[in-house]
Amino acid sequence: MADIGLVGLGVMGANLALNMAEKGYSVAVFNRTTEKTDAFIANAGSLAERLTPCKTLTELAEAVEPPRPVVIMVKAGEAVDSQADILARHLAQGDILIDAGNANFHDTRRRVKEFADRGIDFLGVGVSGGEEGARHGPSVMAGGKPEAWARVEKIFNDIAAKFEGESCAALVGPEGAGHFVKTIHNGIEYADMQMIAEIYGIMRDGLGMAPAEMAEVFDQWNNGPLKSYLIEITAAVLGTTDPKTGGPLVDIILDTAGQKGTGRWSVIEAQDLGSPATVIEAAVAARSLSSQKEQRVADEALFGAAPRKIGPALGDRNSAMIILEEAMLAGKIAAYAQGFAVMAKASESFGWDLPLGTVAKIWRAGCIIRSAFLDDIASTYEADGAIRSLMTVEPFTGMLKATHGSLRRVCAEASLKGVPVLALGSALGYFDFARTARSTADLTQAQRDFFGAHGFERLDEPGKVAHGPWSNA
Ligand code: NAP
Repeated sequence: MADIGLVGLGVMGANLALNMAEKGYSVAVFNRTTEKTDAFIANAGSLAERLTPCKTLTELAEAVEPPRPVVIMVKAGEAVDSQADILARHLAQGDILIDAGNANFHDTRRRVKEFADRGIDFLGVGVSGGEEGARHGPSVMAGGKPEAWARVEKIFNDIAAKFEGESCAALVGPEGAGHFVKTIHNGIEYADMQMIAEIYGIMRDGLGMAPAEMAEVFDQWNNGPLKSYLIEITAAVLGTTDPKTGGPLVDIILDTAGQKGTGRWSVIEAQDLGSPATVIEAAVAARSLSSQKEQRVADEALFGAAPRKIGPALGDRNSAMIILEEAMLAGKIAAYAQGFAVMAKASESFGWDLPLGTVAKIWRAGCIIRSAFLDDIASTYEADGAIRSLMTVEPFTGMLKATHGSLRRVCAEASLKGVPVLALGSALGYFDFARTARSTADLTQAQRDFFGAHGFERLDEPGKVAHGPWSNA
């Protein structure tokens, strides 16, 4: 009998099943559209002998050795509910349903409760790394009961990416915690990608650099503090030639970027928790704005194109590249500080006790935001899991002190010439707000009192609610 079942042979499910088979597990597989199952088995090569194709969910349940773990890897939302519901009718006490898709963690919390009532353990598992990660080693963020995780932990440890021999799979908390952590991972991914895109915009439009030249710079940055998968693929993309035109590939790509929703969810949760993630918010907004291509073309005609040429304002080419690298690093620190602060707040609000050091550790390999930087974050949170903000602890405080001037210069020069810096500008604003002891909310609170008699606290009478002379309260 099979060690594990897997439902959904789309991009992620098919690759996860092959990964499991390669690690020696026998996997019973099912897909709603049977032809996909047949094609999957036909293309599995020698791994096919460890794969059992099933035509129905009943067949799949019968093919797995009890207590049965069954991974569901289908389109998030209603499809998960329907597949899980049918499966549950054929499962028994102690069996485990594992939703490995990008579920909204609120749905996972609901499902955990619903299936617990039916005697079935439900694990919500975030899987990152795309197709390649699923096939050869993803980062795995699990949520659920420790006893349930213990029964499948070995399989996930075996298929997950390894960082210096350590598996990038872990149980990060109960119920929806795994999917929440995956959501924030994706939010940070959006922020990283948008800041890189803005730096590219400054290089292209502000400094007139050619893609091949930029590719070299990103390649160099990949040997420094920004070393990461996203910087690596940026260099690869910028260095790619379009076989049809013979010119840089990036130049013939339509400038609209899609999104599937996890970035937006991370912003919604951040706002709900009162822990704003402004860089992620800007990144999500930038994707939406990018899709309004027609309006942007019309508005450029209406207002005229911005000058965009930054010229020598950032110094010679060498100095400008150092300033851009430092600006990116400062922005990255702010974005990660926001993402981790949101997780800390969620942990407190939902009573999850999220091990943020472990979260950083399992993001060091396999996932899209894997980077050298995460190794430092992991050590920081391992040393003290309760830090207030990543920006306020070493080595990040020192890095920020050394680099925020560059972020400021980049944002200033880009803004003067009209090169958009939505995410980088948000990172700078967040940093400046964070270190402003006396904010301007005195005026905001006075206005609230003026029109709503909400009251305010006087600095000379702490704790007391006072009202302005305009108030009748
Ligand atoms: P995909 O290639 O589009 O495959 C979707 C799968 O869901 C197919 O097996 C499809 O079956 C099944 N499905 C859709 N609606 C269904 C329904 N109503 N009932 C039963 N099955 C249904 O998707 P994917 O990229 O593998 O993504 C799967 C999950 O992983 C999603 O939650 C996604 O967000 C998440 N994820 C994706 C990535 C990525 O890089 N692609 C990374 C991490 C996580 P049919 O063949 O019958 O249509």
